[in-house]
Amino acid sequence: MEDEVRSFGLKVPLLDLQAQYASIRGDVLAAMTRVCDTQQFILGPEVEQLEGELGSALGVRAAIGVSSGTDALLVAMMALGIGPGDEVITPTFSFFATAGCVSRLGARPVFVDVDPDTLMIDAAAVRAALSPRTRAIVPVHLFGLCADMDPILEAARPGGVAVVEDAAQALGATYKGRAAGALGTVACFSFFPSKNLGAYGDAGVVTTEDEALARRVRLLRMHGAEPKYHHREVGGNFRLDALQAAVLRVKLPHLARWNEQRRANAARYRLLFERFGLLDRVRLPAEPPGRTHIYHQYVVRVPNRDAVRQHLATRQVGTDVYYPVPFHRQECFASLAHPADAFPHADAAAAEVLALPIYPELTADQQEHVVRSIGEALA
Ligand SMILES: *Cc1c(COP(=O)(O)O)cnc(C)c1O
Repeated sequence: MEDEVRSFGLKVPLLDLQAQYASIRGDVLAAMTRVCDTQQFILGPEVEQLEGELGSALGVRAAIGVSSGTDALLVAMMALGIGPGDEVITPTFSFFATAGCVSRLGARPVFVDVDPDTLMIDAAAVRAALSPRTRAIVPVHLFGLCADMDPILEAARPGGVAVVEDAAQALGATYKGRAAGALGTVACFSFFPSKNLGAYGDAGVVTTEDEALARRVRLLRMHGAEPKYHHREVGGNFRLDALQAAVLRVKLPHLARWNEQRRANAARYRLLFERFGLLDRVRLPAEPPGRTHIYHQYVVRVPNRDAVRQHLATRQVGTDVYYPVPFHRQECFASLAHPADAFPHADAAAAEVLALPIYPELTADQQEHVVRSIGEALA
């Protein structure tokens, strides 16, 4: 009874950016003022300094600031020379950009199923999907957990196939002690405002150890011009702007602590689901040994997901579904003609996944309210 009184009237949004903003507002406004005072808005010293700071944080030679996570994927694949006639292997269960970029370059996305426990790309399925046309594999570090990279890298090596990490959700995640973004041929991050490190608009970065590839990304980011007005190849405008870089530089030093808070919240959810006796009905996110999950999203699996979600809404608990429709069921990919039952694990996940609030400032009372409300829905 006392518990119910405590949670009465509690609101738990899926994400609350205001709390974080309040804690860094002075520094953010000062940084934005600094940029405005220079009137230099495109690339320039702020972007270069951010690139240096991200490169050393991740332990990679090159970090190239770009206009979004989607553009990071696009320009990385352009730099690898991917185009018509090529195949690129992606998991069928991810955010749309992972596969959309492949199609935009005229290449063919080849979907594979995910591991039923981690929801990450399945290495055995990748091996089965390799063909002489395969030019790249795109493991996605979904929700902030690294894909199992060693078997993917092993599968890629003999054919000289590139491994493009979609690390959009995984800044700060590690795999066997190494950072997401330092594991493949090239990696792509997003700073979309809701990501663990969020800009105040669109932004992204490409990271790589390969200096030649980094040079190509830099060139393509500026319409392939070198020197200016002399175009060796067709690139695009994939530049990061200085205001976003300045905001990101304020936030980057806090990221490790924010990620730790997300991890602590995840640990607390585990205790709460146990305490409420729900572990037989709610499947919690896996955290395999050797990988640090940074919980960009806290995604559980529940039966009757849509009904649970509706009940949570009545209890003022914000949730979302990442992702309700796998790539092989998207209308725009219908011409790729996959058999309806080709990807059972992704289909099962799409029907059951539910993202719960996990942002760093979430309180213990709010988490208890979330878990109690799920218990009500499943009773
Ligand atoms: C967010 C995201 C992207 C795209 O990033 P944008 O900055 O929104 O363009 C790509 N892949 C995954 C897995 C993402 O979560």
